[in-house]
Amino acid sequence: MPLKFGKSKTISNVNEDPLIGLRVLVWGCGLGLLLWLLVTIATIDAVHSDHMACSRPELPMPRTVVIRPGAANPQAWRVAMIEINIQSGGRIQFVEVGQNYEADVYILPSSTTWVAMPCGRIESEIYAGADVNLNYWASHELMHTLGLADHIAPGMSPSYYINPGYCGEYVGVMSYCTPKSQWWGVDDDWLFYWWF
Ligand SMILES: [Zn+2]
Repeated sequence: MPLKFGKSKTISNVNEDPLIGLRVLVWGCGLGLLLWLLVTIATIDAVHSDHMACSRPELPMPRTVVIRPGAANPQAWRVAMIEINIQSGGRIQFVEVGQNYEADVYILPSSTTWVAMPCGRIESEIYAGADVNLNYWASHELMHTLGLADHIAPGMSPSYYINPGYCGEYVGVMSYCTPKSQWWGVDDDWLFYWWF
């Protein structure tokens, strides 16, 4: 019996779609990009919830501030307001108002410095004492009145800080691992961009 040869499969395949390899490659890249986007979005979401102390209502701007007589270092608070207004690109607008006004933020005399930032309302109180260097910390404390949490170093007691996360990769004003010289970098830009 003579051998019979069928039609060449290879030729019929090439006739089907000469660009099949390229198409598979393009789809592969597209799916890869989509996957990368989904992972990135999920990561950003996780980073966001890490910054929020709690959910709070939308904050109206400008955010009015009364500095009560006797509060420590009034000048530091004024400098910090301007610092945040500038660094946020105008997204945050702290404005000092007179004693007779009802304000969003009250800076009050105290022996120790801490921030009362109740969830669910827009008003905050800052207790301003001489126990910390407010020339250094005032803008950090003011940022708490926007609903932002602390990022503390391992070994620091979570009970003393506002709903703290740990320092992690975040570099910025809310992190105790970041020196002031490195505040207002790209991570803080994103913080303002996403929230305000
Ligand atoms: Zn803090």
